[in-house]
Amino acid sequence: MNMTISHEDELLQSTVRSFIADVVIPHEEVTDTLGEVPEEIGREIEAKSKELGLYASNLPENVGGGGLNYTQSSLVEREFGRTSHALHSWIARPTELLMACAGDQIDTYLAPCVTGEKRELFALTEPEAGSDAMGMKTNARRDGDDWILNGSKHFISAPTMADFAIVFAVTGMDETPRGSRKRITAFLVDRDMPGVVFREGNKCVSNRGYKTYELIFEDVRLGPGQVLGEEGKGFDLAGQWLGMGRIWVGATCCGKAERMLELATDWAANRKQFGKPIGSFQATGFRLADMTIGLRTADLLVADAVRRADAGMMEDQDAAMVKVYCSEMLNKVADDTVQIFGGMGLMEELPIQRLWRDSRIERIWDGTSEIQRHIITRSILRPLGA
Ligand SMILES: Cc1cc2nc3c(=O)[nH]c(=O)nc-3n(C[C@H](O)[C@H](O)[C@H](O)COP(=O)(O)OP(=O)(O)OC[C@H]3O[C@@H](n4cnc5c(N)ncnc54)[C@H](O)[C@@H]3O)c2cc1C
Repeated sequence: MNMTISHEDELLQSTVRSFIADVVIPHEEVTDTLGEVPEEIGREIEAKSKELGLYASNLPENVGGGGLNYTQSSLVEREFGRTSHALHSWIARPTELLMACAGDQIDTYLAPCVTGEKRELFALTEPEAGSDAMGMKTNARRDGDDWILNGSKHFISAPTMADFAIVFAVTGMDETPRGSRKRITAFLVDRDMPGVVFREGNKCVSNRGYKTYELIFEDVRLGPGQVLGEEGKGFDLAGQWLGMGRIWVGATCCGKAERMLELATDWAANRKQFGKPIGSFQATGFRLADMTIGLRTADLLVADAVRRADAGMMEDQDAAMVKVYCSEMLNKVADDTVQIFGGMGLMEELPIQRLWRDSRIERIWDGTSEIQRHIITRSILRPLGA
């Protein structure tokens, strides 16, 4: 690691690294080949992660979680990043949005997600509303005290079929100084409610075996107890979680880049051409040097952002910088690793091609690089009134 961490945090990090190496990485190849995580493997990862206290480690201890602070969570996520998301996502870290559960929602949704009896989906994206989340058409209209939900979501991802989804829907229009704006509310929607369909959707070549689902809602009746947080405050809720989610993406990118750099370094030291290790050619050596600089810089950005978050001072642009820099650094490292391996880098017999494919999603999900740059640009220009 490229930062000073306490002895306790170092122990946490090395425990997770061994867990990933011994329990998770051995299942990468079979998962990629089958295009899914066999149920028994997923359950084994889930059970062993519970024994180690890694399950729900992101949530506070007072709700049964692991109570990790943001710095510790970033170390854990970095180690998870060394392997496929299809596998490490079996170690559930329920979305912090569930901390908004109140009354009966705590026993019905939050508590079972902490113990692993239930799993949730975060359902924002729609076929016609990706980067433009405000373009969403899914809506809920009032009917007495109830809501009637209609619409659809896609690319909603999880390691396995979930029990319920946090669904974002339009519940009206607000007048703001910048014009009228859709009013967005978050709802807790069970898979077995009448009018609800959760079904497997497109298959992604990054992290093969990590599933995406389509969600369809046809006149779904939701009682007032299904609103998560306050009506009309769905984006405020999502915003709190999306920022940290982008930092976790950054941390996982560092873990994956580190693994690729180790593989590339080993290959460069041992593969010989023209009678010499290829690492002794400046073109390869400098490539390794640049990969190392990129990784060090990315680690420092993550460390800076989590310190800000732990101090309650992190802003949207901090998370955006982490997301864009770390994911682009990873993609450069992945491409350079393939180049250093030459033809073998693209052969199914080695993990390089898989890590390269797995890296590609990081520039897209949780907001594309372009959207992150919009966020950063806005933070620069808005204070000037532009
Ligand atoms: C495997 C996977 C899992 C996912 N999991 C979830 C999930 O669990 N929950 C969820 O809600 N969503 C999920 N998503 C959705 C993900 O967040 C979106 O894919 C992402 O936000 C981009 O939306 P899009 O794919 O529709 O691309 P589009 O929005 O169609 O963008 C296409 C291209 O246009 C660019 N673009 C768009 N608008 C602008 C602009 N204003 N300026 C410059 N460039 C622009 C984009 O950057 C991109 O390069 C997942 C996606 C994938 C692939």
